[in-house]
Amino acid sequence: MTEGEGMTISRREFAGVALGAIAARAQESERKVGYAMVGLGRISMQHLAPSLKASKIAKVTALVSGHRDKAEKMAAEYGIPAKNIYSYENYDAIADNKDIDAVYVALPNSMHAEYTVRAAKAGKHVLCEKPMATTVADAQAMIDACKKANRKLMIAYRCQFEPTNLRATELIRSGRLGKIQGIESANGFNIRAGEWRLNMKLAGGGPLMDVGVYSLNACRFLTGEEPGDIKANWSVIDKDGRFNEVEENLGWTMRFPSGIVASCNTTYGANMPGFYRVHGTKGMLHMEPAFGYEGIHLTAKIQGEPAIDEPNPEKDPAQFTREADHLANVILHGGELRASGEEGLRDMKLMMEIYRSCGR
Ligand code: NAD
Repeated sequence: MTEGEGMTISRREFAGVALGAIAARAQESERKVGYAMVGLGRISMQHLAPSLKASKIAKVTALVSGHRDKAEKMAAEYGIPAKNIYSYENYDAIADNKDIDAVYVALPNSMHAEYTVRAAKAGKHVLCEKPMATTVADAQAMIDACKKANRKLMIAYRCQFEPTNLRATELIRSGRLGKIQGIESANGFNIRAGEWRLNMKLAGGGPLMDVGVYSLNACRFLTGEEPGDIKANWSVIDKDGRFNEVEENLGWTMRFPSGIVASCNTTYGANMPGFYRVHGTKGMLHMEPAFGYEGIHLTAKIQGEPAIDEPNPEKDPAQFTREADHLANVILHGGELRASGEEGLRDMKLMMEIYRSCGR
């Protein structure tokens, strides 16, 4: 064999290897991350699962439910085979199912820890709904279990992926509003009697855990700072039996290392549209709605600049596709996971401090 022939062959071989690598990459990029939905309630059936129909990299491949009939109806809609329907009892058998890469935990708050830890032990990644858990110890146990199993744990902080919230973050962190002095935020709704959210054992707390966490998390991601000096107050106004276990109203203030003071409110007693306002030395930014499934709307007035008025025209469930895709992308291609378990743990610790500060 001449040198030239040798080179030709090795070029061919090289080309073969390269083509193989391209084919493997193409296959990998065509492969969709399979999610098992754990809990077929409102958020999973009306938002996350439908959102995956639009995903190019993820899909619903399995269902975990206590209601077989509900699961079968959903399985028919999503083309999920009967073998991929699980109950809470045989959930651990997901370990043997290659169709499942990750689970989406959308159960009452106090059940998040158990179903996350069991998923990790089964070798699955986890996208867990907020609030991450109902105790700091549970949140830590979830992180530890996923770390031990070398699986990813992401908390479903969809606003951290929503473009208008990201735009607000950029306006604040780039200094366009000048030095930030104060933030106000609120989020709440008038709850119906009978919801598990009013049961302390299942919910772990009241509106703070459920919807106040959006204000808390926003103050942190907008500033990139970690708050301290928390002071809080709570009350029950409606003595109609709904608030025998959890608070109805809660307000708190916190101070960030730069000196920013934030003041937040949450309630289960009135419809309180989710919003935040951020005041800086050069201007003011107002996001309302800030935390909804669609219709997010940013306005800002900055000295010497034209007014900013940027509604996000995206429709629900685009935010859910984005968050589920983020985890799927990290599973497929690696890279940094945002909204990790550690991020959820920080909010858990702060919420416990808020409760302690008002004697709950
Ligand atoms: P939901 O009541 O609609 O659904 C809860 C599901 O859990 C149901 O399928 C129910 O059958 C099942 N379940 C299992 N054991 C249960 C028990 N002992 N009691 C009650 N239900 C039980 O609730 P949801 O609104 O879908 O909330 C689920 C989780 O998602 C919560 O942690 C909530 O905070 C979170 N959530 C997140 C968002 C968001 O925008 N990210 C919005 C709503 C809810």
